[in-house]
Amino acid sequence: MLNEEKPLNFIEEIIEEDLRKGTHDGRVLTRFPPEPNGYLHIGHAKSICLNFGLGIKYNGKTNLRFDDTNPVTEETEYVESIKRDIQWLGFQWEEELYTSDYFETLYEYAVNLIKKGLAYVDSSTSEEIAAAKGTPTEPGKPTPDRSRSIEENLSLFQAMREGKYKDGEKVLRAKIDLASPNMHLRDPIIYRIKHAHHHRTGNDWCIYPMYDFAHGQSDSIEKITHSICTVEFIPHRPLYDWLIEELEIFPSRQYEFARLNLTYTVMSKRRLLQLVNEGHVESWDDPRMPTISGLRRRGYTPASIRDFCERIGVQKRENMIDVGLLEFCIREDLNKTALRRMAVLDPIKLIITNYPEGQVEELIGENNPEAENGGGSRIIPFSKELWIERDDFMEEPPKKFFRLGPGLSARLKHGYIVQCHDYVKDEQGKVTEVHCTYVPTSKSGEDTSGLKVKGTIHWVSVPHAKEAEVRLYDRLFNDEDPMAAEDFKSSINPNSLTAIEKAYIEPDLVHAEAGTGYQFIRLGYFTLDTSSNSDKLVFNRTVTLKDSWAKEIKKG
Ligand code: ATP
Ligand code: MG
Repeated sequence: MLNEEKPLNFIEEIIEEDLRKGTHDGRVLTRFPPEPNGYLHIGHAKSICLNFGLGIKYNGKTNLRFDDTNPVTEETEYVESIKRDIQWLGFQWEEELYTSDYFETLYEYAVNLIKKGLAYVDSSTSEEIAAAKGTPTEPGKPTPDRSRSIEENLSLFQAMREGKYKDGEKVLRAKIDLASPNMHLRDPIIYRIKHAHHHRTGNDWCIYPMYDFAHGQSDSIEKITHSICTVEFIPHRPLYDWLIEELEIFPSRQYEFARLNLTYTVMSKRRLLQLVNEGHVESWDDPRMPTISGLRRRGYTPASIRDFCERIGVQKRENMIDVGLLEFCIREDLNKTALRRMAVLDPIKLIITNYPEGQVEELIGENNPEAENGGGSRIIPFSKELWIERDDFMEEPPKKFFRLGPGLSARLKHGYIVQCHDYVKDEQGKVTEVHCTYVPTSKSGEDTSGLKVKGTIHWVSVPHAKEAEVRLYDRLFNDEDPMAAEDFKSSINPNSLTAIEKAYIEPDLVHAEAGTGYQFIRLGYFTLDTSSNSDKLVFNRTVTLKDSWAKEIKKG
């Protein structure tokens, strides 16, 4: 999946150096370690493509490890969605593992630390602990419990496990260096008490390891060779290494890359959950969400997301990627694969006054001019009355308007050239009918009329049209960087969804399937929404045909 000709990214360089040196016997084992506290988003896709991509590229393997050390926020629903999303992206893990399966081992590790005099039970309150930690420029001070004996620590830790204390009453801390310039080394908390039901271990445990005492240890238990995480964990690395060294366990190494930030997008599970819970979006897989499931429902393909991750590359420094690049990637993919179809979103009736009443022609439309042999074809019924797009007609067209207006001619896609000679308005002055004549010798593919017209418009035959709801989406946030505001929700775009209750679609589209991309000619790329059923079809616009957003910004 990775392009062989591209220069190596810095992690690939590290791996190739390790392979040259024979570190870990030339073995590459990565892992993707989501916390099952929400649905995966496009940022996770970057990590997935990186970790699984390295496994594939270097003949190695990649584990899926659920980092489930916080019983309060984790759920089985999230576990299932995460597995589905990874597989949908096209990757398969070697082993499905859970940090919670290591709770007993982690407990033993903690006991070992205590026995070495390197961990102690602290009964101070969290405020007292924080106050005694000092500041980056001032060393911390020991709390009274720092000098507890090993025996006392062992029995207190055992009592913590047995549920003798309430939440927050005691913690286990590693005894490292209260004067370290790295705050993470100032006796970090490694176990806390939490009387809560865990999605896998139920009520077996009331003490849970902290991230720093679970992550590296799990890497080590699995013999992960390259543990890749995002740059905010750089300051945690000395602790990662210290624990592995003191516990004398397998020497996994941590490497950090820049997390993905996207313009107009919020990407933390906690905040996405807020959007769901507060009803700003319908669900985790709302097509406006940057979640993998939202993108899938919106019509993004796995290939387009992998392509995006490949294009953004792997850096050490964080930056902001233009969401337009993601849209570019899906356009590129759908242009090659999407079936071309016709739909009319804002209909007005066109009547061909010289076309025989009751006649129906079966026109042939190729599925995709970009594909070999046009990607096959489908039949499009044509008749005297057609729906066309309201804005393809103007009562007083300006110069260079190459569509319909009094006296103007245009080609009906896959059909004939028509010329407008009249139109009808209702009492409110709204145009209700456009009257045209057609040129019988101008049929597409067998045109002998010698006429030339500049514009081609799409249409759907009135008696054959099917109805569908069509949902058009705009950015969920108006601000390029929603997180820069005090409240990220202040820039939520109130017009991010436009639902067209009744659009007309060509009859072939009743066979549409969710996950298949369609280009509605001139309107964009669409896919069937998963909420559709045979009584009601709903289509989502995945993306417009061209980047109209950049132009909008320039216009102001
Ligand atoms: P969130 O804040 O969205 O919950 P997280 O980092 O807490 O993200 P985890 O479930 O812990 O989420 O993440 C699993 C893996 O995905 C981690 O290795 C993490 O570094 C990576 N990851 C998460 N967000 C991004 C991102 N925006 N870009 C790249 N990788 C990410
Ligand atoms: Mg997290």
